[in-house]
Amino acid sequence: MISKLVRDYDLTVNILRARVTPREEGRLVLEMEGKRSALEAGLNYVREIGVDVQPLAQDVKWYEDRCTHCTACIAICPPKALDVDRRDMKVSFYRDKCIACELCIPVCPYQAMEILF
Ligand code: SF4
Ligand code: SF4
Repeated sequence: MISKLVRDYDLTVNILRARVTPREEGRLVLEMEGKRSALEAGLNYVREIGVDVQPLAQDVKWYEDRCTHCTACIAICPPKALDVDRRDMKVSFYRDKCIACELCIPVCPYQAMEILF
C-alpha cells in the first residue's frame, strides 16, 4: 500500500507509527505530502482496498481540566506539541504538531492525555 502511494500517486509518505500483526487488524500513523488531487486520489485508493482512514487530529485529546501544568510531559514530546509558556508556566497542547507518538501518556500523572484509537 505504501509503495503504491509513493509510486502511483507521487506522494511522500512518512510512517510515524506502525502496529501491524499478520492476519490481524493493524494501525499505521502516516504523514503524507503531495498535490491535493494526488492526496485525494491516494486516499480513495486506500479506502477502496478496505482501509479506514481517520485524520490524526481527531484522535489525540488533551483534557485541559485534568492538566495541572506540572510540565512533566514537556521534555519528552518530540515535536513540542505540549509546550510551556515560561512567563506564566502554563502548558498548552498544539494539536496540529502532535504526531501521536504516545510518549506523553505514561508520563502524565493525571491522565490528561489520551489517544483515542
Ligand atoms: S502523543 Fe507524542 S507528539 Fe503528541 S502530545 Fe504526546 S508526546 Fe507530544
Ligand atoms: S504531564 Fe499531564 S498534567 Fe502535567 S503538564 Fe503534561 S498534560 Fe498537564
